[in-house]
Amino acid sequence: MKPSFYQFTLPELQELFSKNNLPSSGPGLLFNWHYKKRRSEPCVVDLAKKSIRYVSECLDFSLPIIDTIKASEDKTVKFLFKLQDGLKVETVLIPFNNKYTICLSSQVGCAMKCSFCHTGIQGLSRNLKTEEIIGQFTESQKWLTQNRPNDDKILNIVFMGQGEPLHNFDAVKKACEIFLTKHGLCLADQKITISTAGYLPGLERWQDEMPNVNIALSLHSPIKEKRDQLIPINKRYPLEEVLKYVEAIPNGKNRFVTYEYLLIDKFNDSDEDAHLTGKLLEGKNAYVSLIPFNPFPGSPFKRPIMEKVKSFKLILDSYKIPTLIRATKGDEILAACGQLNSKAPAITP
Ligand code: SF4
Repeated sequence: MKPSFYQFTLPELQELFSKNNLPSSGPGLLFNWHYKKRRSEPCVVDLAKKSIRYVSECLDFSLPIIDTIKASEDKTVKFLFKLQDGLKVETVLIPFNNKYTICLSSQVGCAMKCSFCHTGIQGLSRNLKTEEIIGQFTESQKWLTQNRPNDDKILNIVFMGQGEPLHNFDAVKKACEIFLTKHGLCLADQKITISTAGYLPGLERWQDEMPNVNIALSLHSPIKEKRDQLIPINKRYPLEEVLKYVEAIPNGKNRFVTYEYLLIDKFNDSDEDAHLTGKLLEGKNAYVSLIPFNPFPGSPFKRPIMEKVKSFKLILDSYKIPTLIRATKGDEILAACGQLNSKAPAITP
């Protein structure tokens, strides 16, 4: 089987060209053609003849295929992508000010089994390959350009779709390198955020290997018993250990950690929960994203009333912790946080 072009970072492609005695200008031209110019047909412009022959004979350019699309009234779009082996993953475009944040999946299913998450119910089928992560972006971008040409900019990438991104570290890292390189998709630094449930082996590598990628930690409760119930890996990688890594961001880099707090009715939304969270994060380089729980079929949890969400925020404000209530988007198409599940009933185009 031919290797995918989309699995290579620029240095890796340069090495491949060098090994095959091909002109060194080729990799940059190919990155420019397929990523910057967003072309999917073979590149023949400025590429040496023997490079064109090598590329067409030895590299595969196929990408995940959009299987179904669901768009909501607020302009959120959920794609179900079909992979080469027939498995499926979901990707969501979230609108803001006529631009988009794209929410990418990193695995088919997830091994973390968080009790509030529709994906967690699925269990892990497999890791996504780098080209399958890149393909979610490029194919969603193409759909936007064709269908919403006046507002087709994707400005941010968040790994908050299906899967624990740090559990598929190598493929996610390579995808981020391609997103960030100026010959690739050229996203500005700090435009990529990886959301983690607190998978410690990945966090240990993150600081050294992905310094330009932000981290969002799923906190959901400062109380061990409650966090254990919501995020079972808390038993293996306790919050105190995880926080040591998350808080180790060097000063002066203009970076902060987002702590995601999923508010669940009568479970973790009390004033006491809010005060304990405030005490835990007070004085830290932290930003809290409050997410009212998004129900999905069969879920045992409920969304709290808005007054409860606002009063939780007020308590965090009293600890001087910047806190935002995340607006729920794409709720009616099950595209909101924690609702993705590629085994969910089929959606219609
Ligand atoms: S919340 Fe994230 S880490 Fe937890 S099961 Fe769902 S996809 Fe996995």
